[in-house]
Amino acid sequence: VTVAASWVDIPNDSDFTLANLPFGIATKHGWSSPHVVIAVGRYVFDCNAALDSDLLGDLDLNASTLATGSLNELFAQGREPVSSFRCRVAELLRSDNTELQDRLDLVTEVMVPRSSVTMQLPFVIGDYVDFYSSEAHATNLGKMFRPQGDPLLPNWKQLPVGYHGRSGTIVPSGTDVCRPRGIVLDEGIPTYSQSKMLDFELEVGTFVGLGSALGESISTADAANHIAGFVLFNDWTARDIQTFEYQPLGPNLAKSFLSSISPWVVTLDAVEPYLVHQPRQDPLPVRPLRAHGNGAIDIHLEVSLSSALMRESGLNPVRVSKTNFSEMYWTWAQQLAHITANGASTRTGDFYASGTVSGTEPDSYGSLIEMTWRGERPLVLPTGEVRAFLEDGDEVNMRGWCGKGPERVGLGKVSGRVLPARE
Ligand code: MN
Repeated sequence: VTVAASWVDIPNDSDFTLANLPFGIATKHGWSSPHVVIAVGRYVFDCNAALDSDLLGDLDLNASTLATGSLNELFAQGREPVSSFRCRVAELLRSDNTELQDRLDLVTEVMVPRSSVTMQLPFVIGDYVDFYSSEAHATNLGKMFRPQGDPLLPNWKQLPVGYHGRSGTIVPSGTDVCRPRGIVLDEGIPTYSQSKMLDFELEVGTFVGLGSALGESISTADAANHIAGFVLFNDWTARDIQTFEYQPLGPNLAKSFLSSISPWVVTLDAVEPYLVHQPRQDPLPVRPLRAHGNGAIDIHLEVSLSSALMRESGLNPVRVSKTNFSEMYWTWAQQLAHITANGASTRTGDFYASGTVSGTEPDSYGSLIEMTWRGERPLVLPTGEVRAFLEDGDEVNMRGWCGKGPERVGLGKVSGRVLPARE
C-alpha cells in the first residue's frame, strides 16, 4: 500500500492516517447539533462545515443527510457514494492539494482538534445479533459449561451460531458500566443479587449500511455492498447470571445490561488491503454461507486492564490479551448472509458482533473467564491484586489496528469503567 502524504500533522503511531478516514458522530461546545466527522491524526474533519464551505465538490450530497445526528442517512445510500465521499476528503487532505490547506480561514473551521469533541453513537442502531464465531472461544466455553460433552455442539461448524441482543443498551466508549443484578444460584438457591462474575468480551462489530428488503437474502459475495464498516465491541457479560439463564435459549439478561462500542466506523475500503484468507472450513458450509474471496481481516487486537489502585499508584494499564481477528472461523460476510438466509430484512444501522475473539493460547483469550479458567487461575496485577473477574473500579480498554506507520488503519479504542451495583 502506498499512502499519499498529508499536510495534516499525523503522529507516527496514529490510528487515524490518511489510509483510514473513519466516520463518526461528534458533538462540541458551540455546535447546535451533532456533526458528521472523519478522524485524521489529532483532528476531526468536520463534514458539515466542509459541505457549508463548498469543499465537497461534485458529491451528490444533501445537507440534510449530514444533519440528522447519525450516519444512517449517509450510509443508507450504499457503498459507492460513501466511497466517493471518503475519497474526496482524502484528496482535500493530501499534501499536493491546496483547496483547503491554503485557506487558513477554512482550515480552522473544518479541522477541529479531536480533544475538543465528544464522540456519540455513530448510528441509530436497529436490530442487533451477537455471534459466537471463534473456534477457540467456543471450545473453551464448551469445556467449562458442558464438561461432559463435546465442547462444540453439532451445529457450530454448519452455521454461525448467534442470538438476538438488546440494541437499546449499546453505548459509546467511555460510558461507565454499572455492575448488574440478576438471578443467580447461590449454593443452589435462586437468588436476586449483584453479579460476582462480571466479565468482558473482546469483539469486532459490523454495521449494516445499505439495507435489504423482506424476502431478500444477501449473498456472501454481495455482503461487501451492504456493510458500513467496523467498530470494536465490548460485550460485557455477567457469567453467574449467564450460567443459570442460558439454557435452552441462550444469553439474555447476562448481556443486555450494557454493551460498548468504539465510536469510529472504519470502512471496508480502509481495511481492504488487510483482507486475508479465513481458517479453512471443514465441513464446507452449505451454499448460502460459503465464503467468497478473502473475508478475514488482519486486525491486531489488545485488551488492557487497570484497577483503581493501579491508577492511584500511577501505574499504566496492564495488557492482558493480544490476539488477531483473522482467526475467526466465520466472517462478517458469512454472518450477514446467515442473518438474511431466511429472508429477514435488514435496515441501515443494524449491527452484529463477531463473538469473542480468542486465539488458542491463554495470553490471546478474549475474556476473563477463559484467561482465569473460571477463576481457577486468577490474574495477578502489578499491585499484587488478583482478578478472577472484574472488580468495582476496574477499567477495561480494547484497541485494534491493521498495518503500521502511515498505512496504519486503527479502530481506535473502546473503554469502560466498572461502577458498583446500584442500591
Ligand atoms: Mn459476545
